[in-house]
Amino acid sequence: MKNHFDFVVIGSGPAGSIISKFLSEQKYQIALIDRASDKYKGKKNFIFNPYVNNCPSHYTPSFSDQLGGNSALWHKKIYLISKEEVTNGKWSIKYSEIFKYSNILAKKLGIKHNELIYNNNKKKKLFKYSQSKRAEFSNIYNFLDLKNKQNIKTFKNSSPIKLFFKNKNRIKSVRILNMENRSVKTLVVKKGLIFCAGGLGNTFLLKNLTPGLDKKTGNFLCDHPHIQIVKLNSRLASSFKKISKVFLFHKNKKNTEKKRELNIYTNIKNYFAGIQLSTNIDPSLILSRIYLKTSFFNFFGYPIRFIGKIIKILIFFVNIFFKIYYKIFDIIGVNGKYSFEFFFSQQKNPKNNLKLNRDNKDLFGLNKIDINWSISKKDLNIYNRIINEFLNSSKKLKNKKFTLKKIDQQVYVGLHPSCSNSFGKDKKFLVDENLKIKKFSNLFICGSDVFPSNGFTNPTWTIMTLGTRLSYHLRKKFK
Ligand SMILES: Cc1cc2nc3c(=O)[nH]c(=O)nc-3n(C[C@H](O)[C@H](O)[C@H](O)COP(=O)(O)OP(=O)(O)OC[C@H]3O[C@@H](n4cnc5c(N)ncnc54)[C@H](O)[C@@H]3O)c2cc1C
Repeated sequence: MKNHFDFVVIGSGPAGSIISKFLSEQKYQIALIDRASDKYKGKKNFIFNPYVNNCPSHYTPSFSDQLGGNSALWHKKIYLISKEEVTNGKWSIKYSEIFKYSNILAKKLGIKHNELIYNNNKKKKLFKYSQSKRAEFSNIYNFLDLKNKQNIKTFKNSSPIKLFFKNKNRIKSVRILNMENRSVKTLVVKKGLIFCAGGLGNTFLLKNLTPGLDKKTGNFLCDHPHIQIVKLNSRLASSFKKISKVFLFHKNKKNTEKKRELNIYTNIKNYFAGIQLSTNIDPSLILSRIYLKTSFFNFFGYPIRFIGKIIKILIFFVNIFFKIYYKIFDIIGVNGKYSFEFFFSQQKNPKNNLKLNRDNKDLFGLNKIDINWSISKKDLNIYNRIINEFLNSSKKLKNKKFTLKKIDQQVYVGLHPSCSNSFGKDKKFLVDENLKIKKFSNLFICGSDVFPSNGFTNPTWTIMTLGTRLSYHLRKKFK
């Protein structure tokens, strides 16, 4: 029947796309719903997250507004979460199981699995090497060619606005609204509904659509604060050539080597940090934040693009200016062209959460969310310790003492929101180990928000691995 689907998947990012792909192979009928308008394609066309009401000024919740979710914007670095992070973060699924599904996923996408796994550092050093791979795919929805799959029907410009229940705990249908033509459809859910709306979007939907769960969702929001410190010139930077940006220093080496980067990572007092060599601190960071916020102020669709375009042109010129500036100073040996980029894990903090804003609604009539996020004093102290241990461990950097007093100005954060709906065995967890919302019999959820801890590894491959595991579970359950 026309509007009957075995599975309704909300969100076409890495989580939703991979789940739709695996389920479609079993001939299930799938509806893939995404609020993205898909009008403005490309890596640089992103907007302020349309369902966020407020967030700290240094938090940047980007939204691609494209099918494929934020994979349309990302930097394409993939690697599987390490055994150390899983054990340390008390994940209740065994690492061997995560590894198994990661392997299945790699085979499916034609990727060599061992390139996504950490080198097992035998030496117990404080700072160890890890590797990440450049993914051969960017926009995952396009890469998997979901548009042309006969049993997947994509509804863009659309969001769920109401769920209908049978016996209070089973979802029987979902009402969706299409923003372009304001049409409303009710889709019958034969087997399951799966929320894959992203690390923030899943909470937003749960808070709006599932009665009685508001207080249980969106707690302990974690992220990966990125900080760039210590200015280096090319000469000094090339003496760290083993780590990161291999392609920066080995431009003529074989392609395969360019696709992998070495990072350094450490685990001190249950905090993880990754460290990579990077270019200088982004000179247009503040302008980019302004751009993001102006595009949020939508005045009947007209001025935002205009103001946004002016800021983009400014960003372009600022970047060119600083490129030339750094090049000249680099030639004469002044530090500045390169820096070390640290990205840290975070301990769970009750002050960091997502709250429903009762006064402000998005275009679909759902209440927006407020993001509360900061770095605790304890986090800051450990970050300082990690930074200085790292500097001290290098003969070349020993004299570069550094103290991070306030993180707000320097931090780049908001790309990896996670842990706000963690899964776990215990009663206190909202989500079970099969990624089902415990209160309902057929509502599932996948994204970085279900991670029990965030470690330091970029999340996307792990999200897709959990999505693969969920698909196998659903295939078995609804055989
Ligand atoms: C600039 C940038 C660089 C990044 N670089 C990396 C990297 O190098 N490596 C890495 O691993 N990760 C990286 N990430 C993070 C990566 O993009 C995310 O981890 C990944 O996209 C998460 O996948 P997801 O499917 O859970 O969510 P998303 O990609 O956010 O997809 C969610 C989808 O749900 C849709 N949606 C949301 N709300 C609704 C609703 N109400 N109704 C219908 N649809 C809805 C959205 O439109 C979106 O398409 C980066 C992110 C950014 C922004």
